[in-house]
Amino acid sequence: MSFNHQEAGLVARVSQLTKSYGSGSGSVTALDDVSIGIRQGEFTAIMGPSGSGKSTLMHIMAGLDTATTGRVWLGNTEITELADGELTVLRRRRVGFVFQAFNLVPTLDVSGNILLPFELDGRHPLSDETDWIDRLIESLGLGDRLAHRPHQLSGGQQQRVAIARALATRPDLVFADEPTGNLDSRTGREVLSLLAASSSEYGQSIAMVTHDPIAASFADRILFLADGRLVEDRGRSSAEEISRFMLEMERAS
Ligand code: ADP
Ligand code: MG
Repeated sequence: MSFNHQEAGLVARVSQLTKSYGSGSGSVTALDDVSIGIRQGEFTAIMGPSGSGKSTLMHIMAGLDTATTGRVWLGNTEITELADGELTVLRRRRVGFVFQAFNLVPTLDVSGNILLPFELDGRHPLSDETDWIDRLIESLGLGDRLAHRPHQLSGGQQQRVAIARALATRPDLVFADEPTGNLDSRTGREVLSLLAASSSEYGQSIAMVTHDPIAASFADRILFLADGRLVEDRGRSSAEEISRFMLEMERAS
């Protein structure tokens, strides 16, 4: 049976995903039979306490790590069947990343960092892509920072550069792992607003890993993991509702 993910409005899907580290008595089950789909155009938060498997799930969905068992699709492409080279190209063209540690190239200026995905793909932006990047730079307030190196920028500015880089190629899906983890709360909220706006205004699909209820309250949908299992799938919720649910989850465990 074939399943058309794009028709179903899914930009990524995992089915019966399991991930174990190590073997024998020292083995750890990081993910235990997880099946989820990430919907096109939505800002999805993946929540759960530390150690619940969030980063592992994101890494496997993005093709940065492999599953022990189960299947993974990006769009209609099953990545569990791809060779390393094919996977690298697919990731480069279809996926963007924002990490807690910003992960900018220290020797490149802001402009070079934003254009890096094109450089890695061996091409220059087309004219409509240049227009888009100019718009991103403008809306992220980076116009007067283009010749600066990352170390000359604040944390919030560095994360805005990382967001510009992740959005520059208009990827099918942007993965963000604790994108506000290194920012003060006000700057964190600014970054979250920018991510939410890229989804509501430009239809950017985003999957964001976080353990922070305030961060998750910016999302359209929230998936909760506990001990490597999906325990809840709900729509937009306030930070208070999310905190309450997490407390109940901890009490039940
Ligand atoms: P989260 O991002 O929710 O904090 P992780 O996905 O990082 O959780 O980790 C889930 C579980 O898998 C944890 O118990 C963690 O210790 C374990 N784990 C993660 N990566 C590794 C690894 N490379 N080797 C062994 N155990 C790991
Ligand atoms: Mg993590």
